[in-house]
Amino acid sequence: MSKKINRRIFLKSSLIVPGGLMTACSTPPPSSATRTKVLIIGAGLAGLNTARLLQRQGIEATLLEGKSQAGGRTLSMKAQGQSINMGGVEIGDGYRRFIDLVNEYRLELVAPDKSQRGLTIHRNNQLLHADDWGTSNTNPLSGKLKSVLPSRLQSTLHGQQFPLSSTLDWLNADLAHYDIPESQRLSELGASDAALELINRAGNFNDINTVSALHTMRAIANYKYSDSTKTLRLKGGNDQLAVAIANSLSDVRYNHTVADITQTSQGIVVTCNNGSQFITEKLVLAVPFSVLRKINLNIELPAQHQQAITNLPYTRITKMVARVDKPFWETDGLPGNMWCDSAIERCFLTFNKQGDASYTFFVNGTGTQALDQLPPKQAQVWLLKQLAKIRPATQNALTPLAFHSWGNDPYALGAYAAFAPGQISQFANEMVKPVSNNVFFAGEHCSREASGMEGALESSEATYQQLIDRLQ
Ligand SMILES: Cc1cc2nc3c(=O)[nH]c(=O)nc-3n(C[C@H](O)[C@H](O)[C@H](O)COP(=O)(O)OP(=O)(O)OC[C@H]3O[C@@H](n4cnc5c(N)ncnc54)[C@H](O)[C@@H]3O)c2cc1C
Repeated sequence: MSKKINRRIFLKSSLIVPGGLMTACSTPPPSSATRTKVLIIGAGLAGLNTARLLQRQGIEATLLEGKSQAGGRTLSMKAQGQSINMGGVEIGDGYRRFIDLVNEYRLELVAPDKSQRGLTIHRNNQLLHADDWGTSNTNPLSGKLKSVLPSRLQSTLHGQQFPLSSTLDWLNADLAHYDIPESQRLSELGASDAALELINRAGNFNDINTVSALHTMRAIANYKYSDSTKTLRLKGGNDQLAVAIANSLSDVRYNHTVADITQTSQGIVVTCNNGSQFITEKLVLAVPFSVLRKINLNIELPAQHQQAITNLPYTRITKMVARVDKPFWETDGLPGNMWCDSAIERCFLTFNKQGDASYTFFVNGTGTQALDQLPPKQAQVWLLKQLAKIRPATQNALTPLAFHSWGNDPYALGAYAAFAPGQISQFANEMVKPVSNNVFFAGEHCSREASGMEGALESSEATYQQLIDRLQ
């Protein structure tokens, strides 16, 4: 048997060790590699805007995107003549960067569909109107929390004593003692085990014990101190801004999934799984760390970057949007919106301008585990069945239009970064810094002040500035 080791196997077996990577590879880059000054990986808002800012300064950048379209987590799916936002939904009217770009590209912001008022709660096999929660025998809370809805418990508890006074305070070293499990902080604020269980059921995180309290406080601060008074949507789907920026760039290459990044003495060599290769002076990694950790990274990284890339958790979200064929809420007399202690967690009922209703299933974190094992078609049937089991009026009332598991999407592997206890203190400040003046990081996970789509744009401005400082 041949003892020859191909280069990929060599990289895998000798250079990559868990938790720490490597020195520059002395193998010369292949002569067929495309040479670029700046190479950006990822055509989400962060990568696209970095390329746009560079192009405006006359600096050509090549952008590699694994999928066949731009937009990443602003994905909008088309069904029955509608654009359904499956990733980033809410565009705050205080999203200054996003709105400036909407104007620059002459796109149009519109009001969101109207939400139905009211909430139905399902707990311990009982279905009840949220107005009856405070006196229900299925309510396990006591004292002043008794009348607080499960969906409001977390923010109510934090609101009792909220130490962050700005959207940047989560990075304030004086507040690092809040970088503890969210469950611990909420217990200190008076949450019983029953309250923690209710919060954990449908919280915006994977698990209440493994997410940092400081991280969830950052999200509350973003809401509390935000300039936004209402939310908007992009006409035609929230991916339209990404599409417009991509169309204005000179060199975006789709279907280029990056598989290997190797520092060589002549530059950084990037290899895609379609066989194409690029060699660049400056590399911008605008993909989530959940994905970056799956790429063969043969570049020397400081310990904190390495820890962040390897360990930063991402919240899993699985979402389904269904057409409403029958007004089931009229049949059983309960509000359409639901908070459930069962596997479906939360559902939202909205109406478009024409009065057509749609129903969104939103499953978070550990709740996605069973669901994400199923192929998408089966998962959709499963969600409908779970709902019909606890709310019989929904039987044959809904038709799925769009479904997406962000945890299973290989180009996202989660919906958004969520620091674990201790990680903000450990690496949040360091992980956004360039490495060796030639590797840069951009994306929602690198934002400081803003979050979500606006955060991705904020981070691209910082990355652009870092690049410009080093390209002079
Ligand atoms: C369900 C959900 C709800 C959300 N709700 C909101 C909201 O209401 N408001 C809000 O502001 N934000 C929201 N967000 C967050 C927002 O959508 C993201 O923060 C933002 O779009 C991230 O942009 P990004 O450029 O950092 O990353 P991404 O959009 O993830 O871009 C990364 C790009 O890299 C590509 N890529 C990945 N791997 C590779 C590879 N190996 N090779 C080449 N390319 C690769 C991906 O395909 C993708 O295009 C939500 C997100 C989700 C998932």
